[in-house]
Amino acid sequence: MEKVLRQFFLFLSDNKSFTKLAKRYGLKFGASRFVAGDSIGHAAETIRKLNAKGLSVTLDHLGEYVTDEQEAKDRMIETVKSIKVIDKLDLDSQVSVKMTSMGLDISEELVMFNMRKILEAAKEHNVFVTIDMEDYERCQKTLDIFEELRKEYDNVGTVLQSYLYRTISDLEHLNKYSPNLRLVKGAYKESEEVAYPDKADVDANLRQMIKIHLQNGNYTAVASHDDRMVEFTKEFVKENDIPKSQFEFQMLYGMRTELQNKLVSEGYKVRVYVPYGRDWYGYFMRRLAERPANVAFVLKGVFKK
Ligand SMILES: Cc1cc2nc3c(=O)[nH]c(=O)nc-3n(C[C@H](O)[C@H](O)[C@H](O)COP(=O)(O)OP(=O)(O)OC[C@H]3O[C@@H](n4cnc5c(N)ncnc54)[C@H](O)[C@@H]3O)c2cc1C
Repeated sequence: MEKVLRQFFLFLSDNKSFTKLAKRYGLKFGASRFVAGDSIGHAAETIRKLNAKGLSVTLDHLGEYVTDEQEAKDRMIETVKSIKVIDKLDLDSQVSVKMTSMGLDISEELVMFNMRKILEAAKEHNVFVTIDMEDYERCQKTLDIFEELRKEYDNVGTVLQSYLYRTISDLEHLNKYSPNLRLVKGAYKESEEVAYPDKADVDANLRQMIKIHLQNGNYTAVASHDDRMVEFTKEFVKENDIPKSQFEFQMLYGMRTELQNKLVSEGYKVRVYVPYGRDWYGYFMRRLAERPANVAFVLKGVFKK
């Protein structure tokens, strides 16, 4: 049943008409549990509250699969604005960006232009930028963009997904840049030709990635809500004398809040991924796909008088 629900919500997640409708109607169906409002003002307020609890943030202006050049530029401008707000309000926050929101599906020149604008502003305001990883079709292009930008900027990292067969070799290839990487299981609908169909393999591969990246001496963000991944990381760093300054845990806004606070109280660095904006539909559907309990929560909200 869980597998069927996952496929259903992942199928809904890339429906263009629903995405358009959702943008028009604002945060609905319990989406506000996972999305920090539709403006940078709302998001800044959320960041301030999280920072007060000792949590760091990475801020994401929601948007993906943009096919209009002006829209991609507008999204770049919004991200630059968010970087300035982070600095001005002295917030403990990085930013995360999706390449399809910067024009990846339009042209390479456009996406590089937008990313250089963002990274210049981020450098000036001392903000770190993570390039999110999207579906398999865009994986190589995203890694190529990361490599090119990493040669020019220190303040950029990216994400690798353990469900892909290719990932360990990507991890080894990128090692020459000593990259700051976020390691995740992967959130998109992929075929068995490119991704492990069994969860056990996805988990084993994530453990392997965490080990390799930490042992290579690189900064590692373990982004998972899975207790087993958190425990594995804690034990591995202890056994191998890896300092707390070389890794962090990352979780999504609205997920495992108690665990986030517990890890902070134990002295670990925890970063919360905070999305905001009107383009919430695809992000929200992927969260429903991940966990049936999220669906139950949403249904309660829909039927509540
Ligand atoms: C900060 C962050 C950034 C991300 N960035 C990307 C990205 O750029 N690209 C991408 O493809 N994916 C990204 N993801 C999503 C990621 O790939 C997974 O889809 C998502 O994190 C679900 O996998 P999981 O490891 O959290 O646990 P799952 O595999 O979903 O769950 C494993 C187990 O963990 C426990 N668990 C999970 N969630 C909860 C919960 N809410 N409450 C209680 N127990 C729970 C349960 O026991 C569950 O069985 C990101 C995730 C995070 C946290």
